[in-house]
Amino acid sequence: MTRHRQAELLLATKNKGKVPELALLLADIPLRLRTLAEFPRVTTPEETGATFAENAELKARFYASHTRLLTLADDSGLEADALGGAPGVRSARYAGPDATDEERIAHLLTEMRASGDSTRRARFVCAVAIFDPVAGACELFEGRCEGRIGHEPRGSNGFGYDPVFIPDGFDQTFAELPAEIKQRISHRAQALAAARKTLAKAFPTHP
Ligand code: IMP
Repeated sequence: MTRHRQAELLLATKNKGKVPELALLLADIPLRLRTLAEFPRVTTPEETGATFAENAELKARFYASHTRLLTLADDSGLEADALGGAPGVRSARYAGPDATDEERIAHLLTEMRASGDSTRRARFVCAVAIFDPVAGACELFEGRCEGRIGHEPRGSNGFGYDPVFIPDGFDQTFAELPAEIKQRISHRAQALAAARKTLAKAFPTHP
């Protein structure tokens, strides 16, 4: 990672909830954090990748090429073994482009039943990409959280598939567990912790 003269990092997510989460995690790294809110004219790339890593990288490259900033992007989703890894990279659009979280969960539970319920094993996966437009280099980090799919939605915390995901070591779903626990064990926390280590090395507090 090139040490840019003015150390800045673009947090390239349109999900407003993720910005404070990322900022908190990177708080002690001497980087000026920028967000996409500062670039209202930059459009959104199509997520055409076959894997979470490909999508994270294409988003980081896209936003870096439009802003010339060191850029961090992520992509995540749920993989169910009984469904051959679906919904996977299609997690956000699994029940159609305008579906609600409830409709996506209902679709997932229907597909699980239709699959014969051979196994409820599943995992959340998150890929984080950091693209350096000066060096033209991309670094990738991945986090996984193993668990199983419940038979009905439970809990009201979090978002997405949280009400039907029970992480290993717990009986409650992500939507029932306190946010602090999810923040500690989640796929996103693990991928970001790895990315954070690399950024802390590239941008030491006392160089
Ligand atoms: P994205 O990475 O923000 O594009 O998220 C992709 C989709 O995966 C989301 O819309 C959710 O449906 C699902 N997803 C990703 N991470 C989580 C999570 O931590 N809990 C629940 N659902 C998630």
